[in-house]
Amino acid sequence: MPEGDTVWRSARRLDQALTGATLTVTDFRVPELATLDLTGQQVEETVSRGKHLLTRLPEVTIHSHLKMEGSWHLYKLGSPWRSPAFQARVVLATDRWQAVGFRLGALDVVPRDQEHTLVGHLGPDLLGPDWDADEALARLLRSPEVPVGEALLDQRNLAGVGNLYKCESLFLLGIHPELPIGEVHVLPEVVDKAQRLLVMNRERAEQTTTGNARRGQRHWVYGRAGQPCRRCGTPIESGTFATARDQARAAGEASSVDNPSQARVTYWCPTCQPAPS
Ligand SMILES: [Zn+2]
Repeated sequence: MPEGDTVWRSARRLDQALTGATLTVTDFRVPELATLDLTGQQVEETVSRGKHLLTRLPEVTIHSHLKMEGSWHLYKLGSPWRSPAFQARVVLATDRWQAVGFRLGALDVVPRDQEHTLVGHLGPDLLGPDWDADEALARLLRSPEVPVGEALLDQRNLAGVGNLYKCESLFLLGIHPELPIGEVHVLPEVVDKAQRLLVMNRERAEQTTTGNARRGQRHWVYGRAGQPCRRCGTPIESGTFATARDQARAAGEASSVDNPSQARVTYWCPTCQPAPS
């Protein structure tokens, strides 16, 4: 799943390519938007809010979410696409560029003044100009019994952290992912670490949390199940933690892209991150 830094970079690339240009083609390949034609409108900007992308035209906003495997590609007019056409959900073209959204997890077009219906529930954006750590901490602590690993992924608390930065931040602070968030005595440091990792990586194509960009050296624990901890040598563990809330969701509670609806594989060092007693 793309993290906030990946979405931020996608927004910047779209913004640089499309802003100020007039749309010469708009092709929405989802049933609800199939008849919509925004040709002739000028693109004002593209911004990210957490893991959401907002492309603003004078009257409407095109909202997209990459979810698990979506991506935006930019092509010079006439260049071949690098993904199959049947996976394209939308094409926005100007006289220079084609922006193609592939396998998008969500795609909507709303009046500009209705953007809040799509992103108004999000917590403070870790990469936003208005990042507010105190507000994020207050939201995280509203449900002190929730495991910290789950609370950090809930975009209603803070927007932009995915599974990679969750696992890595918790390792760096020595916190077990199952510890109830109300018992994390270094919670401000965990949030600060996640934000710094996102900022550090937003200009990079290859995400690293170790400072080493070489393949196999980029992460402390994420994706390293069974390999020795880089600090203490203990084999890294992995697993999913099914919680009572997961079971409630499975029984029908509503979930969304911002409300983690399934347990994700978590990685941790059992020595550096002792289990809660
Ligand atoms: Zn360790």
